Amino acid sequence: MFHVILFGPPGSGKGTQSERLIARYGFKHLSTGDLLRNEISNNTTLGLEAKRFIDSGQLVPDEVVIGMISDALDKNPDAKGFLFDGFPRTRAQAEALDTLLAQKGSAIAVFLALEVSETELTKRLLNRGLTSGRSDDNNETIVKARIAEYNAKTSAVADYYRQFDKVVLIKGEGLIDDIFSALCREIDAKK
Ligand code: ADP
Repeated sequence: MFHVILFGPPGSGKGTQSERLIARYGFKHLSTGDLLRNEISNNTTLGLEAKRFIDSGQLVPDEVVIGMISDALDKNPDAKGFLFDGFPRTRAQAEALDTLLAQKGSAIAVFLALEVSETELTKRLLNRGLTSGRSDDNNETIVKARIAEYNAKTSAVADYYRQFDKVVLIKGEGLIDDIFSALCREIDAKK
């Protein structure tokens, strides 16, 4: 089993690169953003609770997303490897993920962190908001709140994986193809 975390602030290109990485390596994609939006469109209790946080640019509580990931891991016992996208976003989530994987005799192979400047992030998110239909993308106050949440709670997740020497920084600006090649080089080096 070979598991990858694709990390980076909102708008850093995790979704775009995830699609390509899945096509190349056959990972099972686990995006907490997608899982939460799915709960919202199905009008589940979990979805209704999560929507309040998402619509104000805040993180959804740890126990909610950890429970979702735990279910997803159990539902995919035959996966060759997982690509975690948008998870973990807090240190508590990172610790919980390590525990869940350890229970399955497994661990994260590499933590790939996309780096993009704040000006570029805001521009990309507002631009995505014009077409994505995502209510958290088309409002500058919410976009700024998401970036603030990232700086306050999520960026520290990289420090957590640094202690295990798993972090690789990747420049997330430039051509999509070049960023993809840089990600693949790192994965191939660890495989
Ligand atoms: P982006 O990376 O562009 O912000 P996502 O689709 O990953 O988009 O997430 C959208 C929203 O869903 C986040 O702003 C947050 O409210 C919530 N969310 C997603 N993943 C998590 C997580 N692991 N922990 C807490 N909240 C999350």
